[in-house]
Amino acid sequence: MDNLVVMLIVAGVLVLLAVGLTIGLVVSRRGGRAAPPLPPIPPAPPVPPVPPTPTAVPPTDVLTPPAEAPPAPAEVETPVVVERPEPTAGRLVRLRARLSRSQNVFGKGLLSLLSRDHLDEEVWEEIEDSLIGADVGVEATREIVDRLRERTAVLGTRSATELRALLADELVGVLDPTLDRSLRATRDGGTPAVLLVVGVNGAGKTTTCGKVARVLIADGRTVLLGAADTFRAAAAEQLTTWAGRVGAEVVRGPEGADPASVAFDAVQRGIEASVDTVLVDTAGRLQNKVGLMDELGKIKRVVSRHGAVDETLLVLDATTGQNGLEQARVFTEVVDVTGVVLTKLDGTAKGGIVIAVQRKLGIPVKLVGLGEGPDDLAPFDPAQFVDALLGTEPLGVDA
Ligand code: GDP
Repeated sequence: MDNLVVMLIVAGVLVLLAVGLTIGLVVSRRGGRAAPPLPPIPPAPPVPPVPPTPTAVPPTDVLTPPAEAPPAPAEVETPVVVERPEPTAGRLVRLRARLSRSQNVFGKGLLSLLSRDHLDEEVWEEIEDSLIGADVGVEATREIVDRLRERTAVLGTRSATELRALLADELVGVLDPTLDRSLRATRDGGTPAVLLVVGVNGAGKTTTCGKVARVLIADGRTVLLGAADTFRAAAAEQLTTWAGRVGAEVVRGPEGADPASVAFDAVQRGIEASVDTVLVDTAGRLQNKVGLMDELGKIKRVVSRHGAVDETLLVLDATTGQNGLEQARVFTEVVDVTGVVLTKLDGTAKGGIVIAVQRKLGIPVKLVGLGEGPDDLAPFDPAQFVDALLGTEPLGVDA
């Protein structure tokens, strides 16, 4: 019995020892031994500095590409389609029908007078009246009629065709086909050409700026527009629309900004962007001569810090006739006008104003506006213009 008890005790001790050993092993496998130390956490790579968020984009930076890819646009925008203005060659011929209102009074009336059997004193007076009625101006009319009378007498010209050719020749002659009518719009000495566009409000100044930009772009030049007419709220907006259509940049200031400072910034930007031509639209308030002189004088002075102004174009509304000529004279006294743009010739029966303007001001008409369409501005050519006015084809008369 005692032996049995001893054996049971020994067996119990052995069982306890075995259980204890098993637990010890499991514990040591599960981490009883010290775990190897974790590798140290490498330091975080340096975070690149976040560029400051621009607070306002200066207007002159529109051509500079952004430094980083812009965030995805919130909404899909319609792509801007940049137009290709039509070439300038032949525009006057294409637009000749627009002069039909002038043609009826001027051309047809004159040609029927010249077709009379007898060119007596009365007929010559009627010819004179119809030239004056077409706004050619008294002085130029006298000159034209005197020379016509002389030439018909000397040549013994009789046929209507010959008389018409002589008249065309005289009209072209008073328009002086030898004058340089090209726009000085080419870069010179590494800087853009600068063109100021001046004229009274309503003459078509801003529209003409847009159209001239298209003329220059059609002829292969790069153009930047300066919206220095800061007094008329819609002018800068209007100019921006014109520019957008041909992919040109616009520099504009806040409404009511100093026109001279906008003009200065525009030329500055034109130099940076290496464009061929900077076209500056100006304000045309003709409140009084001193005010106008101050305003345009300042623009010209300030712009000249970048270099000389290459061209000052005066925009005149052809429908204002002789009154427009008076306004034009004030501008020529204030700034050195180098060329005239005669707008709205499509809306007048008095196409002879071209002759009067050029003679009175002594400045070449360089461009004519013949409609509200974007390409309805044509380089002026005396022979083509006279042909269109008279409703004739070129006849090629020897002087
Ligand atoms: P601004 O005040 O001198 O800048 O004049 P705008 O450029 O705003 O033009 C005044 C109006 O004249 C606008 O309705 C133009 O469309 C119009 N206009 C400009 N040029 C011509 C032209 O050659 N023919 C016609 N029919 N309208 C023109």
